[in-house]
Amino acid sequence: MRASGYRGRLAPSPTGYLHVGHARTFWTAWQRARDAGGTLVMRMEDLDPDRSRSLYADAAYDDLRWLGIRWQEGPDKGGPFAPYVQSKRRSIYLDAWRKLLRKGFLFPCRCSRKDLEAALGAPHESTSPGAPGQQAGKLEPLDDEPIYPGTCRHNLSHAPLLPGPTGAELDEPESANWRFRVPDGEVIEFEDLNLGPQRFVAGVDFGDFVVWRRDGVPSYQLACVADDAAMGITEIVRGADLLKSTARQILLNRALGFDNPRWFHCRLVVDHNGRRLAKRHDALSLRSLRQRGITPMKILSAELPVEG
Ligand SMILES: [Zn+2]
Repeated sequence: MRASGYRGRLAPSPTGYLHVGHARTFWTAWQRARDAGGTLVMRMEDLDPDRSRSLYADAAYDDLRWLGIRWQEGPDKGGPFAPYVQSKRRSIYLDAWRKLLRKGFLFPCRCSRKDLEAALGAPHESTSPGAPGQQAGKLEPLDDEPIYPGTCRHNLSHAPLLPGPTGAELDEPESANWRFRVPDGEVIEFEDLNLGPQRFVAGVDFGDFVVWRRDGVPSYQLACVADDAAMGITEIVRGADLLKSTARQILLNRALGFDNPRWFHCRLVVDHNGRRLAKRHDALSLRSLRQRGITPMKILSAELPVEG
């Protein structure tokens, strides 16, 4: 057993090969857990059914070990909070969804992507080159998610679905995007251990966000807070592309009665054109760097351009 109560995590999604930016972030997560005498948890975030591949999960374990990163709990090691693979933890996410629903935080949204684009008056580029690299192409964009126009906001919390069970009796999310109703105008502030004070305004910087997708999959936001709470994570080290998601997750933690962990967001590595790295940057994948004989030391110590 580890002496310290620090619990960190590595949470790759198996939708491509890890790149130099991931290496930096995961290395920082490992260092911080090690320096704290804490425990590091490996959690595979494979909820996207269309893009997750076991090939990439195996490659992630292998590449991270090659870098010298070690973890104490995970899919390959087991541990007290198994399973450590998100696709096997659906019941935990369903519990969180039900809790949010019963407390009146959620509404079903039946807007199509086209409806949203029309309501917003502009085409929404969810996969633009400037989109957050690690999430580019995901069905559910994260920090670039446009502000929800509020079309379905008053569904369910005031009126029962007809015909059938009232919202409070629903047991399973059904064929809709379930959104979390954000408290418009509320300022959400937190102190980032790396980037300092952060401030976002609900309804201005982000709108009502999806917690359960119409294709039957919990959103990143919901799965992340449910798992971090269930696994007793005390500090989250991740990329700065998720700063705004942290504000959303603070609202979810409060709604679910979970304690907030601390956050350490790492600046994002960018390419020579100033664009965030994405899994499509094959030349900077750990795989191809390894094959070219580049050492972990070189990858971790190289001067690389970062955002901001
Ligand atoms: Zn809607």
